[in-house]
Amino acid sequence: MILGADNRKKWSKQDVLVMQAYQMVQDERCTQCGLPRWLCHNKDARLQVRIKEDECWVKPELKAHEESRSKDDNFIGGTAYPEVYDRRGAPLHTFRASYYKQLAEEREDADPEDGSF
Ligand SMILES: [Zn+2]
Repeated sequence: MILGADNRKKWSKQDVLVMQAYQMVQDERCTQCGLPRWLCHNKDARLQVRIKEDECWVKPELKAHEESRSKDDNFIGGTAYPEVYDRRGAPLHTFRASYYKQLAEEREDADPEDGSF
């Protein structure tokens, strides 16, 4: 260890099995689209694809920051990353329930035939 002694325990058999399972999942994932290879490399004509949108309000903020930074000739380096916070200081976990409530409401509004939003 770089900082102090290594106080981690040795891996148990279960730790090794979990890591092997994780590696198997990673190995099955397509490097191009992220789906399991058995789906996106499968030539079975019954399989179709529909493109869905995932809306994140943080990404545009990050992109705008990176674009403004790229115009700064004096900028040397560093990686920009998002940190979400509540303007009143509430802990972030208090927003979890409202998110899942919002998700449930969106699913109620969705067309039950195709399961999309
Ligand atoms: Zn793929």
